[in-house]
Amino acid sequence: MSTVAKIVLKPKDAERVVSGHPWIYATSIRKIDGQPSDGDVVYIEDGRNRPLGTGFYNSKSKIVVRVIAKEFVDVNEDFFVDRITKALEVRKRHLPNASSYRVVNAEGDFLSGLIIDKYEDVLVLQTSSLGMDRRKDIITKALVRIFSPRAVVERNDISARKFEGLPDSSGVLYGNFNGEVEVKINGFVLPINLYAGHKTGLYLDQQVNYVNVAKFAKNANVLDCFSFFGGFALHAAHAGAVHVHALEQSPEAVELGKKIAAANNLSDKISWEAVNAFDWLKAEANRIVKEKLEPVYDLIILDPPSFTRNRQAVPDALRGYKEIHLRAFKLIKPGGVVATFCCSHHVDLNLFHDVIVAAATDARVLLRRISLYSQAPDHPIIASIPETEYLKGFAFEVIK
Ligand code: SAH
Repeated sequence: MSTVAKIVLKPKDAERVVSGHPWIYATSIRKIDGQPSDGDVVYIEDGRNRPLGTGFYNSKSKIVVRVIAKEFVDVNEDFFVDRITKALEVRKRHLPNASSYRVVNAEGDFLSGLIIDKYEDVLVLQTSSLGMDRRKDIITKALVRIFSPRAVVERNDISARKFEGLPDSSGVLYGNFNGEVEVKINGFVLPINLYAGHKTGLYLDQQVNYVNVAKFAKNANVLDCFSFFGGFALHAAHAGAVHVHALEQSPEAVELGKKIAAANNLSDKISWEAVNAFDWLKAEANRIVKEKLEPVYDLIILDPPSFTRNRQAVPDALRGYKEIHLRAFKLIKPGGVVATFCCSHHVDLNLFHDVIVAAATDARVLLRRISLYSQAPDHPIIASIPETEYLKGFAFEVIK
C-alpha cells in the first residue's frame, strides 16, 4: 500500500470529487507524492490529508486521474467482482425482465473507462482508459466468476481510446466464440453477430422506449427514421401497426433489420429503405406539398445519431434537428404522434425542446407533449455527473 503514489488536490477541486465526479484534470492537482507511472493506481487526498479515493493515473490524458473508488482500495480481481456485482444488482432491480443489457456503464457506475455489455451469455468489454485497459485480464476473471459466461469479447475499436494513447484491439478474451448470438429484447429474438457492425453490437439504451413508443402504434401507419436494425419498427409492427416504413443509411443495418424482422415473423409489416433520412424527409415533404397530397403517417419516430462530438458542433446539430422535425411535422397526419430522441450530451433537454418548438412554429403546428423519455436504467444517470445523462426524448401529438 505504501508504494502507491498520492495525488493531493487543491482545496476547491476536492469538493468536486467528494460530490462524486470522477475526472481530475492537471490544473486541480496541488502536488504528487511519489512517482506514478501511466496506468498506475493512485490515491487521492485533499490538502488536509483526508482521503478522497482511488483512481487511475495517466499523465498523457487530459483527465490525469479517473477516480474509481471513494476510499483507498486495492484494485484487484475482488475489487472488480464487488463493483460489477453491485452494478448488476442495479440492472436486476430496474430491468428485472431483461437478459441483455449494459452491465457497467463507465461513470454511471463509478468505473470511468469501463463498459461491459451482456448479450445473453456473452459479455462484451470496452476499456477507454489506460488503467482499465491494463487490467483487462483481472476484469475478465471477475466476469467469469460472476457470470460463468460462454465468452468474454473485447470490442476496443472506439475513437475515445486514442485520447489515452491506446491502439484498437478486438478479439476473444475468454471462451470459444464465433460471434453469433441470439439476443432477446422485450420478447423479440435478435440474431446478431457481435464481430460485425456498430459499437458493441446493438444500442441497448432504448429498450424501455421501444415499448413505450409502440403504445402509439396500434392501427397506425408508421415511419421509423434512423432505424438501425429497426428496434422501434419491430415493436411498432408487433403492437398492431398497419405498416412501418424504416429509413436507415447503412445497407448492412438494413440487411440486419430484415433478418431480425424475419426471425420475428414481421417481415410483411415492415418495409426498408437504405437512404439518407434527411434527403428522404425533405423530398417527401416537398412532394406532398407540391402534389397537394394529405399526410399519411400516424406515428413518426426520429432517432438520429449524435450530431455532436463536441460543443463546437452544437449549432450545426441544432440545424439538423430543426430540419428533420420541420419535415416530420409536414408528413404527420393532424393529431398524429412524433416521437423524437436526442442522444447528444451537448444538446440538453431544454435546448432540444426549444429547437423542436422552433420547427413547429415554422411548420405552423402546435405540439401537445404526451411523453418524456430518458435512457434505459442500464445507463444510469448520476445526479452530480452531468456527462452521464445523454438520451432524452419526447412524444408530441401534432395539432394542425
Ligand atoms: N433507432 C435505432 C438507433 C439509431 S442510431 C435503435 O433504436 O436501435 C442512429 C442510426 O442512424 C444509425 O444506425 C446510423 O447508421 C443511422 N444514420 C446516420 N445518419 C443517417 C442518415 N443521414 N440517414 C439515415 N440514417 C442515418
